[in-house]
This record gives sequence, structure tokens and C-alpha cells, in this order.
Amino acid sequence: MRPDDLLRPTEAGLYCPPGDFYIDPVRPVPRALVTHGHADHARPGSEKVLATRQTLAIMALRYGEDFCVERQEAALGETLAINGVDVSFHPAGHVLGSAQIAVSHKGLTIVASGDYKRRPDPTCLPFEPVRCDVFITEATFALPVFRHPETADEVGKLIASLQQFPERAHLVGAYALGKAQRVIRHLRDAGYDRPIYIHGALKKLCDFYQGEGIDLGELRAATVGPKSGEGATKADFAGAVVVGPPSAFADRWARRFPDPVSCFASGWMRVRQRARQRGVELPLIISDHCDWDELTETIDELGPQEVWVTHGREEALVRWCELRQLRARPLHLVGYEDEAE
Ligand SMILES: [Zn+2]
Ligand SMILES: [Zn+2]
Repeated sequence: MRPDDLLRPTEAGLYCPPGDFYIDPVRPVPRALVTHGHADHARPGSEKVLATRQTLAIMALRYGEDFCVERQEAALGETLAINGVDVSFHPAGHVLGSAQIAVSHKGLTIVASGDYKRRPDPTCLPFEPVRCDVFITEATFALPVFRHPETADEVGKLIASLQQFPERAHLVGAYALGKAQRVIRHLRDAGYDRPIYIHGALKKLCDFYQGEGIDLGELRAATVGPKSGEGATKADFAGAVVVGPPSAFADRWARRFPDPVSCFASGWMRVRQRARQRGVELPLIISDHCDWDELTETIDELGPQEVWVTHGREEALVRWCELRQLRARPLHLVGYEDEAE
């Protein structure tokens, strides 16, 4: 069997003809296998959805319980047959519940890794290398210029700034699923034990993480009183950490805080110009995707016969593979944006 007969790019996403299913389809389909809960990978409206328990729960939180007609839970490491094609889910290390999907048929195995990373993340299971003939990798940061620094050092910059500016609120922009909880958990690991204020858009997901046993410490709503008698006063935010989705920072919401230090946790903060454009005073290079070294080391470690590259800087990674006599191709799938990273 040729790899293309088992999985192929289509307009709706990666399609498996013998199994008659799609992986992370970008439009509603009869049967979807979903790697993780980010909005560009997990979309509502498909008939049947197979994903990990946590990803299904995240989709229900975001889209409502009727995000599909029929859900099926994939237990990590267990093989299921779909129309005679074997599929199994394995941790991807990207966000809570994220999984790579291995598809095997007639002696051929393709692993669609979704989004993944290799460095330690206290909020999800680590990436598990899965032997395969074809490895499908993302390429969000697939340029040699992208080398993410140590996470603890980036969190250390935030802590140092809090000490240096004890009267200023530190507004940390972080994507609502995964990044926000990870930044909070890293702060706790660094010994920061004051209450952390969160924007309302993060509440459901933070509650879900806490319910899954990821201790985020004391979180408070970042609402300013006093009209209802609830919420904090402006003075409470002096020297406080306030975490919110990046979109909220362009908003009136951000102006309620005293002399804020604008921070943004993203792999894109490696690009100084992006930080400047967004008016970010304290860029924190914290990424939920592999950097260049992690991508190339993963391919070396797995040793597949062929690599398919999707969403991001496809050409550079394809070229890197070719220089090593490794067959590689860009998939040119559309509809996946990792701007939110
Ligand atoms: Zn993602
Ligand atoms: Zn992605």
C-alpha cells in the first residue's frame, strides 16, 4: 500500500479512504478524528468525533454539548479499528488531552502528530515517540532562527519584573487553551503563590484543568469593583499578575489596570518586530510548539522513511529532510493558523 492510499490531503483535511475518516477536518464531515482542542484543529459540526476524553470535554466546553452527533472516546495507547483500519492515540505534549494519531493498514503506519512539542510541560503528558513509516509533522516554527529559550528563564523574567515594579500590574497575554494554564503552573513551580487574576474568557478552561488535577493555585476574576461590591479594587492589581487572552489586550478591559506592564507568552515573541507591533513591553518566549531543534531531533529519533510537513514553514523542513536523503513533501493543508500560539 502506498502512503497516499492510506492518508491524503483534501480540501476538508487529511482523509483516509479505506477507513473513511478525516483527521482534524476544517469543515463538518461524517467522521472526524481530532488531535486536540485548539479551534483550528477541533471544529464543531461533524457527525461522529473520535478524540481523547479531555479533547472531547474541551470541545463540549467551547462549542456546547451538541458539537457533534456522536462522540467516541479514544483511550491513549489502545488500538481501535475503523472500517478495517487500525487507529491509536498517543500523547503529543502540546496541551491537555492532545494526541498524535497513528493510522495502520496492511503493514503501513502513518503518524499524524497534530501540534506537538518536546520540552517539559507540567500541564500535559509528554510527547511519546511512535514508530512509523511516514511521520506527519507540523512546521509552525520550522526555521533555524526559532530556538525557544528555557521556559524557566522566561518565567524568571516575569518574576524579576514583578519584583522590580511592585506597583504595576503585569498583564500576561496567553492563549486560552493550554498556554494560559501552563504559564500559571510554571509561575507556581517558580514559587509564586499570590492569587493570580484571570480574564473571564479563561475561567471555564482553568476550572477544567483544575478538575483534571492540574493545580493552578488561587485564581481570582480580573474584574474591578466596586459597583457590585464584588471584584477587586484597582489597588489590588498593583504588582499582580493578570492573565488574559491576547485579544483582550487591545480592548478597554486592559485599561482598568494600574500602569500595566504588557507581557505576551508566545513562541512568536522570538521575533522582536512582532513584540513591538503588539506593544509588548515584556515578551515571554514560551511556546507550545517545537522549535527547529526539536523538530529535526524528533525526525532523527523516529527515523521514518518519509516525512510529510504541514502548516507553517513547510519548505525549510522539507529541504532539511532532502539534504539528508529523506523523502519529504509539503502537504499544503489549509485552514490551520497557529497565530494563536
Ligand atoms: Zn494547537
Ligand atoms: Zn496547529
